[in-house]
Amino acid sequence: MDYTINEVIQFIRENDIKFIRLCFCDIFGTLKNISIISDELPRAFDSGISFDASSINGFLNIEESDLFLYPDPSTLSILPWRPQQGRVARFFCDIKYYDGTPFEGDCRFILKNAISTAAKFDYKVEIGSECEFYLFELDENGIPTKKPHDYAGYFDMAPLDKGENVRREICLTLEQMGIIPESSHHEQGPGQNEIDFKYSDSLSAAENLVTFRTVVKTIAQLNGLHASFMPKPLKNNDGSGLHINMSILKNGINLFDNLQHGSAKESDSFIAGILNRIGEITVFLNPLTNSYERFGSHSAPKYITWSSQNRSQLIRIPAANGKYSRMEIRSSDPCCNPYLTFALLIYAGLEGIKTNLELCEPENTNFYDLNINKNKIYEMIPDTLKSAINLAEHSEFVKNHLPNKTLEKYIGAKHNEWNDYSMSENKEEHEQKTYFY
Ligand code: GLU
Ligand code: MG
Ligand code: MG
Repeated sequence: MDYTINEVIQFIRENDIKFIRLCFCDIFGTLKNISIISDELPRAFDSGISFDASSINGFLNIEESDLFLYPDPSTLSILPWRPQQGRVARFFCDIKYYDGTPFEGDCRFILKNAISTAAKFDYKVEIGSECEFYLFELDENGIPTKKPHDYAGYFDMAPLDKGENVRREICLTLEQMGIIPESSHHEQGPGQNEIDFKYSDSLSAAENLVTFRTVVKTIAQLNGLHASFMPKPLKNNDGSGLHINMSILKNGINLFDNLQHGSAKESDSFIAGILNRIGEITVFLNPLTNSYERFGSHSAPKYITWSSQNRSQLIRIPAANGKYSRMEIRSSDPCCNPYLTFALLIYAGLEGIKTNLELCEPENTNFYDLNINKNKIYEMIPDTLKSAINLAEHSEFVKNHLPNKTLEKYIGAKHNEWNDYSMSENKEEHEQKTYFY
């Protein structure tokens, strides 16, 4: 919705909206909000609503703690699960200092910068994500258990698939919020589900995903279930990935659409750019110690390779035509901060184009096949959070594209997370406590 501020204010008055949630993400992609009464909205548009940024993970220190939230009118959405009298609406916000300059640690601002860098060269990146998650049962006290909601598998139907009503409710809720869930299905793991979004501009794609995580958790809870986005919640079952489908347009023409575009040069270099930087940015795409347990089995990648169809590879070029032509990145997981993830992927792809990077040969090996060519050495995606941190910490590329303080705080927190994990006696229990809820 591209409403002006005045139209939004009128809409709020005419639709019995009493509360406004001002939303933003911390540097780890966790959604935060403050509720204001709707009469305060004009003031929020005009001069922002202040908050204590020293209490938000990775923002400011205590000695310089005031920041201001400015709602973006185009992100207006009513929360369908809240009361429909005295309704609640939400906005995503830009974060600024007192004098109105943007706060450089605002992930929304970081992604917007990546988008405008692309725009300077007439490029536009569109993203459609596919997000997997598990549904688990609650015990008699309402505490989540590790018992999956069903034992169905890929594309199964009811009565095996017990997730159909929850997925239906999630999709209807998303639609009411202006997000288009293109398709949904039962995934391979017991209690595992997936919802795929229609592609959109990168900023909306990031915010749709953030909204989606809240919707899934909320609807699951309203149905007496627990939804988990933990990348590998059950040791011997499928992990949950976040597949990121990206296409890059130049002057409106999709460069992945060979029929229209003719030459694959730029799209190849875009892929090559991402392959080239993937190791350095993995700590953002796969932020948890548990993220690394997903790699290398159950259709999750392990090596830095690409292919046109094979699902054991990091990048896949799905069979598609026209505006649906795209690349699919298969390593990322649903716990990432999508703003930072998308920003870094855009920068990596653009760098590939700028430097005319050659794309290596596709790899059609099935990496789950034990007979793979042992003489050939494949470069691996980092296999622990520790090695992903090390790569990011020493990356000029990452330093050039993320603000110093944000990077420092992100990496510092990841070091602590790794240390806590390494020192824990029971690693599975530790991860369960830290990531399952
Ligand atoms: N669950 C798999 C993963 O961890 C992906 C399955 C699929 O191809 O959709 O990435
Ligand atoms: Mg899937
Ligand atoms: Mg996929």
